[in-house]
Amino acid sequence: MRLVLVGPPGAGKGTQAQYIASNLSIPKISTGDIFRANVSGGTELGRLAKTYMDRGDLVPDEVTIAMVRDRLREDDAQDGFLLDGFPRNVSQAEVLRDMLKDWEQGLDLVLELVVDDEEVVRRLAGRRTCSQCGRIWHVEFDDKKDDVCDACGGKLFQRDDDKEETVRHRLEVYQEQTAPLVSFYAKDDLLVGVDATGPVEEVTQRAMEAIRPFMG
Ligand code: ADP
Ligand code: ADP
Repeated sequence: MRLVLVGPPGAGKGTQAQYIASNLSIPKISTGDIFRANVSGGTELGRLAKTYMDRGDLVPDEVTIAMVRDRLREDDAQDGFLLDGFPRNVSQAEVLRDMLKDWEQGLDLVLELVVDDEEVVRRLAGRRTCSQCGRIWHVEFDDKKDDVCDACGGKLFQRDDDKEETVRHRLEVYQEQTAPLVSFYAKDDLLVGVDATGPVEEVTQRAMEAIRPFMG
C-alpha cells in the first residue's frame, strides 16, 4: 500500500500516521520528523532547513525532494509506505508521481484529513512531542499535567513553530501551496476525504474503513 496523508498543520496527520502505518505494517515517512531530527543532530541538512521551519515556510523543493527520494529507495519502503507531510505543493506531487513511475510504482490512495481552522488552532496550541520517542500528545485532550511521556518516560517539548504567530503563517502557507493538492489528486481519482474530528481512535477507524477498499 502506497499512501499519502494530507491536511492542514494540526489536523492529526502525525497522530494518525503512527496507527495507520502500524496497522498496515508499512513505514511511516514524516518529512517534518526527518527535518527535526536533522536540526537537533546539527547536520548540514538541518542547518539548511531550520531557517525555513522557524518561519513556518516550506523548505526548498530540491532539498526536500532529494531527502524523500533517498528515503523511498531504502529497503523497508519497497513494498509500501505512508507519507506524512510530503508532498506539500503541486511540484513536489508531480516529482513524486514521476519518480514512482520511473520505479514502476504508483500511489494507491491519498487521504485528506478534514478539520476546521478553529479546531486546528486548538490542537496546535496544545501539542507536545516526546523528545525521546517522538510520540505526539495534547495538554488538554490527553490531560497532560506533567511534561512526561506516558509511553516512554521521556520529556515532552513544545515545537518552536507552534507559536501563535508562526501557526498563522503555516496555515496561510497550507492554503496557498498545499490545499491545491486536493484537486490535483481528485483529478486522478486518488483522493478520499476523512472527517478528522472526534476522538483519535474514531478517526483511525474512519481512515482504515476508507483505506480498506484500496487494499490489494
Ligand atoms: P505539521 O505536522 O504541523 O503539518 P510538519 O512536521 O509536517 O508540520 O512540518 C514542519 C515543517 O517542516 C514545515 O513547516 C516545513 O518548514 C518543513 N517541511 C515538512 N515537510 C515539508 C515538505 N514536504 N516540503 C517543504 N517543507 C517541509
Ligand atoms: P499534524 O501532524 O497534522 O500537524 P498532529 O498529529 O501533530 O497533527 O496533531 C496535532 C495535535 O492535535 C496534537 O497535540 C495531537 O495530540 C492532537 N490531536 C490529534 N488528533 C486529535 C483528535 N482526533 N482529537 C483531539 N486532538 C487530536
